[in-house]
Formats: sequence, structure tokens, C-alpha cells
Amino acid sequence: MHNALRPTADSRWVLSHEGYNVLSESAVEARFAFGNGFLGMRAARSVSRGPTWAGWLGYIRWASWPRCYVAGLFDMPNMEPPVPALVPIADWSRVRILLDDEPLLLREGEVMVGSRKLDMRRGALASSWTHCTPAGITATGHELRLLSMADRAIGLQVIEIELDRDGIDVRLEASFAMAGLGMEPIRLEQDLGAWRTEGSRKEVAMAGAATLHVGGARLEPDRPFSLHWVWQWRSVAGQVAQFDRLISVAREDAPEDDPAARARAALTRSTALGWREILFQHEQAWKERWDAADVVIEGDDKIQQSVRFAVYHLTSAANPSDERVSIGARALTGDAYFGHVFWDTEIYLLPFYTAVWPEAARALLMYRFHTLPAARVKARHIGFTGALYAWESADTGTETTPEQVVAGDGTIVEILTGKLEQHISADVAYAVWQYWRATGDDVFFLAAGAEIVLETARFWASRARREEDGKRHIRGVIGPDEYHENIDDNAFTNIMARWNIARGLETIDILTARWPQRAAALSEALALSDTELADWRDAAESIVTGLDPQTGIFEQFAGFHTLEQFDLAAHAGRTVPIDVIIGAERTRRSQIVKQADVVALIALLPEVFPAGMADANFRHYEPLCGHGSSLSAGMHAVVAARLGHSQMALRYLRDAAARDLDLDPNSAGGVRIAGLGSVWQAVVLGFGGLDLTGDTLVIDPKLPVEWRSLSFRVCWRGRSVGVHVHDGRVEATLLTGEPMDIRIAGATEKLTHTNMSVWRQASQPVPNG
Ligand code: BGC
Ligand code: BGC
Repeated sequence: MHNALRPTADSRWVLSHEGYNVLSESAVEARFAFGNGFLGMRAARSVSRGPTWAGWLGYIRWASWPRCYVAGLFDMPNMEPPVPALVPIADWSRVRILLDDEPLLLREGEVMVGSRKLDMRRGALASSWTHCTPAGITATGHELRLLSMADRAIGLQVIEIELDRDGIDVRLEASFAMAGLGMEPIRLEQDLGAWRTEGSRKEVAMAGAATLHVGGARLEPDRPFSLHWVWQWRSVAGQVAQFDRLISVAREDAPEDDPAARARAALTRSTALGWREILFQHEQAWKERWDAADVVIEGDDKIQQSVRFAVYHLTSAANPSDERVSIGARALTGDAYFGHVFWDTEIYLLPFYTAVWPEAARALLMYRFHTLPAARVKARHIGFTGALYAWESADTGTETTPEQVVAGDGTIVEILTGKLEQHISADVAYAVWQYWRATGDDVFFLAAGAEIVLETARFWASRARREEDGKRHIRGVIGPDEYHENIDDNAFTNIMARWNIARGLETIDILTARWPQRAAALSEALALSDTELADWRDAAESIVTGLDPQTGIFEQFAGFHTLEQFDLAAHAGRTVPIDVIIGAERTRRSQIVKQADVVALIALLPEVFPAGMADANFRHYEPLCGHGSSLSAGMHAVVAARLGHSQMALRYLRDAAARDLDLDPNSAGGVRIAGLGSVWQAVVLGFGGLDLTGDTLVIDPKLPVEWRSLSFRVCWRGRSVGVHVHDGRVEATLLTGEPMDIRIAGATEKLTHTNMSVWRQASQPVPNG
């Protein structure tokens, strides 16, 4: 086997799956997906599958569902209510092999070996198989497939096959399967196809080149039609046939754009380099990412593997050079949620990018800047000013939440999130602020960030209305806990709104002091008056928070404490969400929380919970949470770890990690990228105690006793800092950049020279926490 096809030997970098089980296939295809933030591909087998033509296959969880996605390529499919969905492009990986005219099909004969390995280190999928056909011919194959991290337009596939017999007529066909389903072809040439989405009229072009060597000699293909190659030869036992295919994809970004020319140029560029060089550059690009983002844990192989899995998918999902897209709830790994972008990106993913890949964080925030006009329209539409971001957002930023869905029992369920789940606007502002604090990227803040913070602040000030009690209220919302709809004064929403307004005021002050010209220009462009700012101040002071001063507990929303008490512990060990067991209505009447809500607030705004308040609120709400979302367990782990409840935090972290590592059929629709983001956060922000929000970088680790060490790197205001926690001590190393202060376990130190380290004793976790 060519060395390139051999996966990394160290099993801590590799996920393996043996065999083909219809029940878990779709989950495997999602979990082993690979991508580069522009393209994403599911890990469907390329060889020995039958044709895929039926659209409904996507809805059966026990079918193979090959998919390749292009970030930002949305169109309105034929469904009710119509919402934009990611349009899959041609599946460029399919290879059909015929032996003596009989197609090699998984369902026929016997597959002795059939393994897929996700090589996370190299960002590639490696497969191997040995298949004995009904005619008794044994075919052995190896494949490597990837989407280049070095040149995001490029995909590569290399396959080696050999037979155990002489004299078999072999026919190998390579095609672009399902080419242009749901799109109108506008150009089909030998090596290139271009299509246009029917509704959104976006052009996408794909080009491809393929070669085959048998026994080292190159064979010329027949090219019967566009993007199709056919080779035929007679087998010699043990002789290796090596197939390689390079593809390139370009998406139209502006009306004058010519994606076909760009796809062709990318193909020319990559064929000139050849597949070995493409692979080399891709591996180098992944190495750079791992150097910056790897997290190493000694003493816990399972969590080591899952945090790598998280970093792998987070890295595969982002593209620092594309400001026009963001990351959907399933990234580019499946159809669930149609590729729509939620608060998941800002609250669950951005902390990772800000800390280890600020260029990617910036691009994701620029997407929110480009979609600010749509957010203004949404706010105005419901009678407010400023910017209200879409709960679900696609390419333009217009609200794309489906207004209804058909439930499992056939009834129609109204979806209110698109109208009422408004905390998203504060979440976006929060991510902008965290990014700016951590990176010091003033250029971004002046050009885009400040405007987002001001327009979202303005929305909240108009949204929080003064009532007879003299307080300002935000009525009729949904908080992170979606089990309770149309509620008043959700603590999470109100306190995030208050924070957002305060940051709006601070933005004005900072701009006025440091960049007066920009301050004047922005105030004029946004028509911000002193009267309006006075109203913001009033709003920030008088928004109700639900805090009970006696107990220090925030009521999750007005009336929550009077709902029926419900003993979730009596349902421990259940495998389905609690609302499925007791019904939506009973859940609504009960003090059952879908996912971290007040608990999420503890993680985001710790300053709101001084002294013992964080612990008191966590202890109050933790037992009430049903964890009905993949976003929940990891957030609980973050908070528990910071509070020093290491064992509970570890339990939650294991739970979050299991959600995507285990072959849960619900992950068929794609990996739950926010859950993966929370795994990273639990390890680095939780146990590692990293805090990027202050004027000094803070590290205050509290590791579980099982972990011998934890190491990671972090970017902070133009520097790179290495952190190594072991034997109760913390070592921080300035790897690049200017001298800086660092606060470790409560003491401030100076990190002056490159490669200078400081050591500190780590804080102690709570005993028996
Ligand atoms: C989610 C909502 C979402 C809705 C429609 C639900 O499962 O919890 O956040 O808006 O689906 O996509
Ligand atoms: C969660 C939301 C989340 C959405 C997409 C829902 O189940 O409740 O918080 O944004 O899924 O991941």
C-alpha cells in the first residue's frame, strides 16, 4: 500500500469503524465527515455502493446518504413552509467497479474487511476493504479522501485496488454522482460542470481530473460524457491499480463572478502540483492547525479522544477567508436544520475560534456584520428599533426558522422560536465583545463590531418596556430552555440584554475617548442622540432580573418557581428526552429545564454571580435540567468545573463527549457541532480555567484527580501562550509576541521573554466535588 493511504499509527489520533451496519451507517457517515469550512463531505463509502437516486433516503436513518456541501449554497426546496436549505452538490467520490461485467456491490458476496478510519491528525478519511464476490474473486482496496485545508476549493481521492486472480475483465468508472440534483445545468464540458440553483440562482462549478495507473503504467480512459471516466483492463493477480481524482469547486459570490473559470483555474493549479503535493500541503495546513489548537490530556484516553474529535470537527467547519458564511447547527456534515445558523455559533463555537484561531472567529463575526441589515428589518418588522438577529439564519440573515413542523405523530406543531427566541441578538454582541477583548482587533471593532454592539443594544432598549412597577420588562420570549414558550422576563434574556446595553454605552465612551472621529461618524450614521443614550442608561438600570435578594437565586422567568415540581431523578436512565415521556404540556407546567439557561448565564457572565451566588444558582438549577439538547451537558460541565465540582464536571463532560462519539442514530443528520464546542470549553475554559475576557490573561486550572496533566495553547492579543498543568502546578510559556502579564491561580506574573515560563501552584478543587 502506498504510504499516503496508511492512516496515522497512533490510535489517539484515529477513530475506527469496522463493517457496515444499516442501523448505524448514517451516523458513521456524519461522525467521520471531513471538510475545510468551504466544502464538507460525509463519509459514505465510495466503492461498491448501489446508485443513490431517491431524495427521501435522507430521511431514513438507516440508509447511506452520500453528501457533499458547499458553505453558503442555499436554495428553497419543495417543502412547506418553505425555508432555505443547503443544496448538496455532486457526489464526486463515487467509483463503480465491474469484474467480468458484474458490479462489485456490498450486498453481494462477502465483505471480509470493511474499515473506515478517520485520521484526525491528517484531516482525512482512510478506508480499507476486502470483498469476495459471488464469483469467488477477492478484491482488496484502500482509499484516502480529503478536502484540502491548504486550498479549500480542492478535493482529493486516491484508491488502490488489487485482485487475487489473473484474467478478470476489470472496468472502473468514476463519475460525479447525483450531479446537479435540484440545480439547472448551465455548462457541461468534459472536465467541468456548472449549475445554478433554481430559486436563489447561485452558480456553482465543479471541475475534475482523474488518472489510473495499472502496474505502474498509465492507462487512458474513455470519456463518454461530462465528468465521467471509464477504464478497462485485464487483471493480473496481485497487480495494483492506482486511481486518483482531483476535484475543484467554486461558488458564485457576486453577479459578475465566473465560478466556472475559478473552478478550472483551481483544477489547473492542483493538477500541476499533483496529488502527492496536494496531500503534503494539506497535511502541513492541518499540522499548523493542530500546533495551535491541540489539547493534550494525560490520564484520560476517552476525554483525550473526544476533545480531539471536537477540535477536529471545529477545525473542519471554519473558513477564515469567507465572511459570507457561518457554521450551521450540524456544520457541513448533514441535512438536519438545513444548514441554518443558530446561537450555537456565537456561544458554543466562538470561544474556541477566538482562543485558537482568531482569523476564523473574525470571519464568523463578519458574517453577522454582513447580515446586520436583515436583523434591522426583523426588529422593525415587530415594532422595535436596532437589530434583532434571526433565530435561524442562512445566507442573507433573514429569519429562516420554519413556522411549523409536522411532529412524529403527524400533528402540526407551531414553531415559535423564530419569533420569540430573541436572546440571539445579545449572544452575537457577546461574541463580538469577547473576540475584541481577547484579540485587541481594533480594526474589526471599528469597522464592524461596534456597530453590531450598538444596534443590538438599541434593540434591547426599545424592547424592554417600562411598566407600572417602574421597572422595564421583556415579555413574550423564549429563553435557552425552549420547553417554556412565550414567557416573561427570562433571566438569561434580560441579563444578557442588560449586559448588551451596558456594552453599547461603553462602546460610545471608548470610541469617544480613543477614536472620536469614528464615534462621530457612527453616531451620525446610526442617528444616536443623547436622549436615546439616556434611555439606554435607564434601561440598563431598571430591567428586571428575577433575582431574589433573600436567596441569591434568579428565577428563570416570571412564575417559574410556582410551576409544578417534578422529580427528574425518578426518570434517571431514560434514553429519550423527558418531554417525550410526559408530553409537552406537562413539561410546560413543570419546573423542568430543557438545557442550561440560568446555568449558561453563570458561564457567560460570572460577574453577575458574586460570592456564593454561582454555586447557589448552579445547585438550584442543575437538578431541574432534563438535558433535552446536545448543548446542555457540556455547559453544565464548564460551570461545574469552574466551581471546582470536578467529579460532577467530569460526569457531564463524559456525557457531552458520548453524544457524538457513540453511534447515536440521532447524529445521522450531522454532528452536533455546538456540543463539540462545549466539550472543548469544558476542558479548556472549565478545567483549564482559561479566561480571555479581562485586561490580563487568566489561567486558574482545577483538574480532576484522574488527569495527570493538561496542555493547550492560546492566542491572546497577538501572542501565543502555551499552558501546561501537571502535578498541581501551572506552567505558562510565551511562545511568540510581546511581553505580557498573566494571572495564574490568583497571582499576577510577567511573561517577558519568548520561551520564558512561569510556574504556579494550581488551585485546589473542592474536596469530593
Ligand atoms: C429547535 C428550535 C428550532 C426548531 C425549528 C427545534 O428542534 O429546538 O431551536 O428553531 O427546531 O428548526
Ligand atoms: C436547542 C437550541 C439550539 C438548536 C440547534 C435546539 O435543540 O434547544 O438551543 O440552538 O437545537 O442546535
